[in-house]
Amino acid sequence: MITSRLQAQALDAADPLRTLRDQFHLPEGVLYLDGNSLGVLPKATAARVQQVVQQEWGQGLIRSWNSAGWIDLPQRVGNKIALLVGAGPGELVVADSTSVNLFKALSAALSISRADAQPDRRVILSERSNFPTDLYIAQALAAERGYALQLADTDELPGLLMGPLKQRCALLMLTHVNYRTGRMHDMAALSRAAHDAGALAVWDLAHSAGAVPVDLHRDGADFAVGCGYKYLNGGPGAPAFVWAHPRHASRFWQPLAGWMGHDAPFEFTPEYRPAPGINRFLCGTPALLSMAALECGVDTVLAALPMGGMGALRQKSLALTRLFAGLVQAQGHGLRLVSPEDDAQRGSQVCFAHDGIAYPVMQALIARGVIGDFRAPDVMRFGFTPLTLGYTDVWDAAEHLRQVLVGEEWRQDRFMQRQAVT
Ligand SMILES: *Cc1c(COP(=O)(O)O)cnc(C)c1O
Repeated sequence: MITSRLQAQALDAADPLRTLRDQFHLPEGVLYLDGNSLGVLPKATAARVQQVVQQEWGQGLIRSWNSAGWIDLPQRVGNKIALLVGAGPGELVVADSTSVNLFKALSAALSISRADAQPDRRVILSERSNFPTDLYIAQALAAERGYALQLADTDELPGLLMGPLKQRCALLMLTHVNYRTGRMHDMAALSRAAHDAGALAVWDLAHSAGAVPVDLHRDGADFAVGCGYKYLNGGPGAPAFVWAHPRHASRFWQPLAGWMGHDAPFEFTPEYRPAPGINRFLCGTPALLSMAALECGVDTVLAALPMGGMGALRQKSLALTRLFAGLVQAQGHGLRLVSPEDDAQRGSQVCFAHDGIAYPVMQALIARGVIGDFRAPDVMRFGFTPLTLGYTDVWDAAEHLRQVLVGEEWRQDRFMQRQAVT
């Protein structure tokens, strides 16, 4: 591990991915360690959105659905994201939000499980620590369709699939990288365990797409959803994406059978006829302005492809997270590392827990311009986006954290006030 800021600067000078940060507006005086929650603003976005507003909408008006290719944007941006997650062309579309896509994907997966004549499989299995919206969506769907959502600890999943749930599990629903700890699942092993139990594997890539290499085909996923505004830098509330393995994609109706998922929306027929393949996952008219911004964000990640792509980004991300975890642990302030030390199990974030003071410590850091976030009850979360961050940033962030703790800066009253968004 490096022991000085000069060494960190030397690593930055030698970093072949360093130029990628020039694609972004990074505000002065801010060390942004929250790209896992809301990615930074690409320089291209404002001009592109302005072009869509002023030219394509303002001048082109309704004609732009054809002339500016608006109607194909869900597929066009989807094909770009596919390159980052090991999906093929025409297999992934951008639509709706992650929560809504998960509802559609789970519902489709349940239909397939029943179509395979397995009416006794009534369990959706997930982990207790999954992101709440995923659990809420699964609860609602399970209640509506007569299934049970069973929650387990991460390490119990394979045993349950091999044992008590072997004949009963319809779906395994997991988030690849845990939002609170950064722990990354072995997608191949767990998909295989699901299949061996006769279940399907549905993966949420919210903290994976653009952050860690994903290979949906190689690793046996059946369905996947993911988020546009985190590591894909699509902007606040950016549309999300959804993928189905081609062997499933034409075998279901998803429940939100809107006209954009119809085989021929402009025939205006009264009966629904789902489009072949993944397009049936579309529901209503896409949010064009948001999707234009998302495309700019996705392009910032694609810019790494000629430089080694997700593999190169992953190597840098691991070096950054390893360095931050090591520097903070060496300070010895009683912060407990809750992210895995094993590189293979760690996503692109580092989290520390500290009973009682995690919230005010994070507020004190934010007041210094070091922006991470807090996840109840006691976790400080630091996301490391290799597109924008360097080794000196890691060094400086660890030093700010040290100063906040040594000086007990976090004790100030103003850092104790809970805000609506943490
Ligand atoms: C961020 C995130 C979401 C976000 O869902 P929205 O519908 O965009 O609010 C969902 N699931 C997981 C696992 C996430 O990390």
